[in-house]
Amino acid sequence: MWRRHWWRHLRRQIPEEVLFALNRLQEQGYEAYLVGGAPRDLLLSRSPEDWDLATDARPEEVKKIFANSLPLGEKFGTVRVLFDRLEVDITTYRQEGAYTDGRRPAWVSFTPSLQADLARRDFTINAIALDPLREKLVDPFGGVKALKQRLVKTVGDPEVRFGEDALRMLRFFRFQATLGFRGDRRTEKGIKPGNIVKISGERIGDELTKLLVSASPKTGLEGMARSGLLTALFPELSAVREEPALFRHTVETVQAIKPETELRWAAFLHDIGKPQTRVDKGNRLHFYGHEKVGTELAAAILERLRFSRKVADKILTLVRWHMFPADPWMTDAALRRLVVRVGKENIYALLELRRADLVGTPGVSYRAFAGLSHFAARLEALLAGETVLSLRDLAVNGHELMEFLGIPPGPRVGAVLQEIFHWVTDDPARNRKELILEYLEKRYK
Ligand code: ATP
Ligand code: MG
Repeated sequence: MWRRHWWRHLRRQIPEEVLFALNRLQEQGYEAYLVGGAPRDLLLSRSPEDWDLATDARPEEVKKIFANSLPLGEKFGTVRVLFDRLEVDITTYRQEGAYTDGRRPAWVSFTPSLQADLARRDFTINAIALDPLREKLVDPFGGVKALKQRLVKTVGDPEVRFGEDALRMLRFFRFQATLGFRGDRRTEKGIKPGNIVKISGERIGDELTKLLVSASPKTGLEGMARSGLLTALFPELSAVREEPALFRHTVETVQAIKPETELRWAAFLHDIGKPQTRVDKGNRLHFYGHEKVGTELAAAILERLRFSRKVADKILTLVRWHMFPADPWMTDAALRRLVVRVGKENIYALLELRRADLVGTPGVSYRAFAGLSHFAARLEALLAGETVLSLRDLAVNGHELMEFLGIPPGPRVGAVLQEIFHWVTDDPARNRKELILEYLEKRYK
């Protein structure tokens, strides 16, 4: 009885377009299953990122069944079906030949066997197939058990599987980070960090970003460090890694900052220049200019990982200015210079980096946080004020003014705008349409 209930509950988590696609294939006599991340996430009560189906129908047949489809790497057997709200990728069961270069198989071929298709997948939690219509769960490698144990484990021999495709080593830690799972001990032993160089910078960057913006980047980064993968990827980081306190600080800062791509990367790289700039002055260490050195190291890393100019620039700006002074006694002019240097669009991200930097530093006093809040408030006031520098910055324009007061074009319009301008610059918080109209109402109506 509760089994039926469970399947019904499961179907309710699946968009109707996906159920429709499964049903269409099955009506035509084919097998069709949800595979990849979706079954895993559904069983964990998480919402899947994307919907992948596997079928024994050939790509030509899939294309015939769905008019609204486009081939997506037909050689690999994937057809993408476009619905209004979402896309469903349908891939023909596939098996792979030997991997000879450590990143892709020499050949792939279609197979009628779901089992064979699941066997080529990376981790047991990703090798579960689910048919929510016929209420079947196919789990030849113990994926459900691993979900219960919250364990990431390769399908088959880890050394072999990591040897086939080195990116899987990174995915091993990525899934630990996104799901908050542990890594299987034996699987971790299969890691050969040096092999990661076979993988393109772009694919590495994508997986690392997913790891960094996850709920537990700390778990992922610590695992990568332990296995040697982190320094294989970033020799620039080995000096950071060798100083336990600095590495811990880096990880804690990443964990503390908001989970956005640029912020997480900036936190990850912000102190990368420290080991090179250390100066020991008796009882105190100094790291003069570490943010400048760090920016150069970070730029080389982001370039290697093929980040877009825009994303890289933001990350580098944050690394470059993360040592900004946030003294309560800073003058307005100095504050304005900081905003101009960093860019208005980056200033709140920079404050967020400072907040996380403080959270990640042991023994920081409450006063440091209070000082930062004070600084943020001053900045906000300044920015609010600076938006009104000319008549054009007013929240009400000439047309709106004429319409509201019912007056024709002419010198009077300019005079009233001037008056509003002076009233607003007395207190920039007044620059809101409803407040200005209220003021005009009182003065002229
Ligand atoms: P996400 O929720 O982040 O999309 P996912 O599990 O769907 O996670 P994808 O990268 O979208 O991950 O891949 C979909 C599925 O394809 C995986 O679940 C896995 O079964 C298989 N897969 C992906 N990459 C690999 C790989 N490098 N080696 C083996 N199987 C892989
Ligand atoms: Mg996916």
